[in-house]
Amino acid sequence: MTAPHVKLFIPGPIEVSPETFCAMSQPMIGHRGSGFQELYASIQPQLQQVLYTANPVFLSTSSAWGVMEGAVRNLVARKVLNCCCGAFSDKWFEVSKSCGKDAEALKVEWGQPILPEQIDAKLKTGQFDAITVVHNETSTGLMNPLAEIAQVVKQYPDVMLIVDSVSSMTAVKIETDALGIDVLLAGTQKAWALPPGFAVFTVSARALTKAATIPGRGYYFDFVEFKANHDKNMTPSTPSIPHVYGLRHQLEQMLAEGLDNRFARHRQMAQLTRDWARSRGFDLFPKAGYESVTLSCIENKRGIDVSKLQKIMKERHRILIDAGYGPIKGRTFRLSHMGDETPATIADLLTRLDDALKAL
Ligand SMILES: *Cc1c(COP(=O)(O)O)cnc(C)c1O
Repeated sequence: MTAPHVKLFIPGPIEVSPETFCAMSQPMIGHRGSGFQELYASIQPQLQQVLYTANPVFLSTSSAWGVMEGAVRNLVARKVLNCCCGAFSDKWFEVSKSCGKDAEALKVEWGQPILPEQIDAKLKTGQFDAITVVHNETSTGLMNPLAEIAQVVKQYPDVMLIVDSVSSMTAVKIETDALGIDVLLAGTQKAWALPPGFAVFTVSARALTKAATIPGRGYYFDFVEFKANHDKNMTPSTPSIPHVYGLRHQLEQMLAEGLDNRFARHRQMAQLTRDWARSRGFDLFPKAGYESVTLSCIENKRGIDVSKLQKIMKERHRILIDAGYGPIKGRTFRLSHMGDETPATIADLLTRLDDALKAL
């Protein structure tokens, strides 16, 4: 017996369409055979197109954290600067230290962005050979100014730029190569609208060269292993083959829609949600001008009972919204608007929220 379907509007995992599940339900094939090699090779050009890169795009059977930890283990020789502005970016600093790396946090208050001049001041010290940036901080619904940050990091040719785009990849244009990003990574359960348990990432040529010189990379997330297997259209270990079929399906959908249309659809959904929040007496939690395009972290200015709102939405409308992350639980609530959602499905969500607000 399966539980009744509750549609997900939490910022990950997000809703996966029946068409995607159907595309994933193919007979298994051997991961060392020509069928898999053809499948792997066939999606590379589309993956490169969507990630705006000429470098290989690797497939990791892990959640995003595997690659986030892997990037630190592969690329930090001297010291890493972890930019911290929310739960995920804060944790990356802890992960760097737990990997035995020398790490420093550039910390701003939750809801504030990481600014390029703050990074410049740190990198000027000459201590760092890598920096981690979370593009879209999902806990606070904040999007950092990635292009401006990348321009600053470019002035420091020895510094590897490692970017988490877990909740923005494919929803917002990120010109990986043009920005000089060395690692761009995402899990598939957010903007890709695939089930969790899989990650996509790209690594620059110079980062691969550097990785080969770094001891203690381990095996499962060794970028050098990924590249050696990539050259044979394979992954280092047995991958989640259903996810690869799912990726192929979602790539076809994205390219049929057109990437610019996809980006515009996400901006439109964000605008609808922000306008709704402000017109209902709420506000957006992040600093104005830095609101995320893929989810809205709404500040509970009205002082409503957020957990009750969540409960009504679930019981009456079979929709799951998020009641706020960790320390800002209740002070905020979050709605995701990414993946396969459309302005029409978001408008429906907002109408149902109005109904639930009346029932509080
Ligand atoms: C969800 C998320 C992660 C963690 O992803 P996992 O798949 O749980 O490893 C990391 N960073 C950001 C920005 C996220 O939104």
